[in-house]
Amino acid sequence: MIVFDLLCHAGHRFEGWFASAEDYGAQCQRGLLSCPQCGSARVERVPSATRINTGLGEPAQKVPPNAADPELAGKDPFSIAQILYSRLVDEIISRTEDVGSQFPVEARRIHYQEAPARAIRGVATREEHEALVEDGIPVARLPLPRGRPN
Ligand SMILES: [Zn+2]
Repeated sequence: MIVFDLLCHAGHRFEGWFASAEDYGAQCQRGLLSCPQCGSARVERVPSATRINTGLGEPAQKVPPNAADPELAGKDPFSIAQILYSRLVDEIISRTEDVGSQFPVEARRIHYQEAPARAIRGVATREEHEALVEDGIPVARLPLPRGRPN
């Protein structure tokens, strides 16, 4: 995939994703490109950095400037990653039951259907974690951001 920065005649800037530069040219000629904000088909490519998605794990995708998330606007990629990770942690905490240090025991009981199936979180030592993994029990380590409770 290749990404071009595009500009409509009303001045809206947006990104277009294409299979290749030829694909862009073909879509442009056939009038298939239109501005996502105003629908204008008068769109041109603006000279700026292009990026090619090699599928090899490209670092830090650029967040569009009009991303509908004011908390992320104008932040650098590292800060954005921290914010998103923090939200993920919140999400996980809100959807799991805290079993604390009983985690290794409870994870095993659930796995062997000795306890009701549910999502749990808790703490485990490195050895306990590795033992769970070796037993084929699906667990994931989740580093908590500093200064957060549990
Ligand atoms: Zn427009």
